[in-house]
Amino acid sequence: MSDKTVPTKIYLTENEIPRQWYNVRAAMKEKHDPFLNPATLKPCTADDLRGVFCDELIEQELNQTDEYIDIPEGIVEFYKMFRPSPMVRAYWLEKLLDTPAHIYYKFEGNNTSGSHKLNSAVAQVYYAKQQGLTHLTTETGAGQWGTALSMACAFYGLDLTVYMVKVSSEQKPHRKEVMRTYGANVVASPSDTTEVGRKILAEFPTTGGSLGCAISEAIEKAVKTENCKYVLGSVLDHVVLHQSIIGLESKAALEKYGVTPDIIIGCAGGGSNLGGLISPFMGDKLKGKNDIRFIAVEPASCPSMTRGKYVYDFGDTGKTTPLMRMYTLGCGFMPSANHAGGLRYHGMSPIVSKLYHDGYMEAVSVEQTKVFEAAEKFARCEGILPAPESAHAISVAIDEALKCKERNEKKTILFGLTGTGYFDMTAYKAYNDGTMTDYIPTDEDLQRGFASILDIPQNK
Ligand SMILES: *Cc1c(COP(=O)(O)O)cnc(C)c1O
Repeated sequence: MSDKTVPTKIYLTENEIPRQWYNVRAAMKEKHDPFLNPATLKPCTADDLRGVFCDELIEQELNQTDEYIDIPEGIVEFYKMFRPSPMVRAYWLEKLLDTPAHIYYKFEGNNTSGSHKLNSAVAQVYYAKQQGLTHLTTETGAGQWGTALSMACAFYGLDLTVYMVKVSSEQKPHRKEVMRTYGANVVASPSDTTEVGRKILAEFPTTGGSLGCAISEAIEKAVKTENCKYVLGSVLDHVVLHQSIIGLESKAALEKYGVTPDIIIGCAGGGSNLGGLISPFMGDKLKGKNDIRFIAVEPASCPSMTRGKYVYDFGDTGKTTPLMRMYTLGCGFMPSANHAGGLRYHGMSPIVSKLYHDGYMEAVSVEQTKVFEAAEKFARCEGILPAPESAHAISVAIDEALKCKERNEKKTILFGLTGTGYFDMTAYKAYNDGTMTDYIPTDEDLQRGFASILDIPQNK
């Protein structure tokens, strides 16, 4: 295929929005280990999860056999407001790097949440509404998930309480106003509105909070509120399932021009965008149909895959969730406050963890200043101001493209550009002012997090 035949943007039509999500677990010969009930250490049943989650989402969470799962028409209708998202050929970045590599990115930032989070938010709220729920709770770190969920709750008419990680709510006051505009009640976490919040505050009075704390608060609030459930924006299998829309659209767009990626790169916080982007491609790899390299990129300050342990751990600091076997820094890990925004979660999607553990993908970590160098480079030549999370993927895409230049290899690189950085100006300011620092936890720092991992037979 000659370069000229691929347009800068490949758009699918509305009718080409996938009508089914792709469930990569069906293609995995070995599934990830089951969730465990922390009280009994037995695999979780649907009933174990019902106190916290919506019924349909529990079904999807436990479905490891159906490779394709229908997307209800009501969700497709909402998707049409912001999908299909563009597949962009990064001609200008290629030119800047003077690389023979072809670089593509799938851009998920064209909606008010500014990220891919809306793909799962709309699905989760749709099912909650169908079940007759009237209220949802959740946590948000950088704010994209809270915003996405606020948008979906406004659309379907549900009340929403968002526990926002305190440092983020201070760094991003305008995020809160976006959520309030969509009708959400936003609480800085840890807060004194929950028992677990009060407990964490008593123990760590100056903490800036973490996703793990905010999750505990949101779960407690859901359990104590009538007709209310908790929803999560990443990590869980059903979120990865919803995010497979990214990978399915990517595959369809590239296939129009006969393009097959050699390398797919995504940033990894809880693993949902990465899991969704790679899902259909990984399904093919597991069936021996391709030999794509998949690379997860995480911050050096929160290195769950590259330096974490593959063990059973809680999804939250308050130790209330089921146990998941995943790469984790320990549910007691407190990320450094100087780290900008997202990708601060202690754990990792069990699906992504399992694929990584079994050698189907790679993981690398990148320091914050290097991430912002990549963000700046990208913004100046491709025009889009990237979210710092997304810039982790950009940074490694640039590294790989430069390796292609050194070796004179014409590889095709696809990365996920998960969102825009308009609300990350505090971080960009630190970078522009030259005051941004790189925090890399010492082994001792990590040890403190690992100490919170349960000492159970499954972890021996
Ligand atoms: C939330 C978020 C991420 C990380 O979350 P994952 O679940 O790992 O995908 C990455 N980029 C943006 C823009 C986000 O909002």
